[in-house]
Amino acid sequence: AGGNRLQIFSDDMRVAVRERLTAETRLRDALSGELNETLPVWFQPIVAADTGRIIGAEALVRLRTPQDDLLSPFHFIPAAEETGMIVALGEHVLREAVRRLDLWNDHFEYISVNVSPRQLAEPDFVPMLANVLSSHPSLDASRLVIEITETALLSTSIDVRERLLTIKSLGVRIALDDFGTGYSSLTWLQSVPADVVKLDRSFVAGLSADPRKTSIIQAVLWLARSLGMTAIAEGVEDQADWDALRELGCPSCQGYLFGKPTPPAEFATALHASLQA
Ligand code: C2E
Ligand code: CA
Ligand code: CA
Repeated sequence: AGGNRLQIFSDDMRVAVRERLTAETRLRDALSGELNETLPVWFQPIVAADTGRIIGAEALVRLRTPQDDLLSPFHFIPAAEETGMIVALGEHVLREAVRRLDLWNDHFEYISVNVSPRQLAEPDFVPMLANVLSSHPSLDASRLVIEITETALLSTSIDVRERLLTIKSLGVRIALDDFGTGYSSLTWLQSVPADVVKLDRSFVAGLSADPRKTSIIQAVLWLARSLGMTAIAEGVEDQADWDALRELGCPSCQGYLFGKPTPPAEFATALHASLQA
């Protein structure tokens, strides 16, 4: 690389760098387009464990390329975080989710929205959230849930607890996403004023065949309940796991068994069917 510097650049690295640049370009283009076209927000049902009825939904964003391919967030959220484009992307997702919540009013309880550490740390996050809510004055703010992961606690210099308390003062609820997969889940539980625990898929999938998973889930459900929080099991894919979760008294479930993330129109149809059932 000139002088006495040696640069090692493997094919893998080259591919990774190219993919990152592609993700960035695609994201920048998508953000300058018609957002509901280029960055559609899809919804995955969350059901009551006892009845299987839809009680809520998680908003999950996709990126539509000019070739009409749909990209999973795994391909562009990291680039969005690193470049700061997550701020604009996140505001779009939040506005769309709250708009849907208002539109589908009364049919179900809540919509949850993922908020990344970088977004949460943004000084404008709370004013932006308040602004989004103020465009829907008749909406009960407790029907909006913000999902955060433990990395939010570790990776920012802001006082996360303080910020979450401000968010809660707007009436919005907080969920701990991917619970149990981080390094300090108990610290997280102790220090963060959360309302919902989302049990990570790694504890849930195959639960019925694994007594250790059963014990862990049982203990976390008990812990959540004693702290006055509710729980959602993520990644419920088969009937046996659903039965086991019901048996353990898990209040709500999310997973392919009940529905994959779908575009808003399809979600509305599923919601309607669920109400008729
Ligand atoms: P997450 O928050 O853990 O979301 C759940 C992911 O698990 C979703 O993937 C969902 O499609 C998938 N999933 C749901 N049920 C099942 C199941 O039964 N089995 C399996 N194998 N998977 C299931 P998706 O939509 O690809 O999203 C991936 C991640 O991207 C999300 O993980 C979340 O961390 C992030 N993400 C998505 N939308 C947003 C967003 O608007 N903002 C931010 N900051 N992050 C987002
Ligand atoms: Ca989530
Ligand atoms: Ca999750």
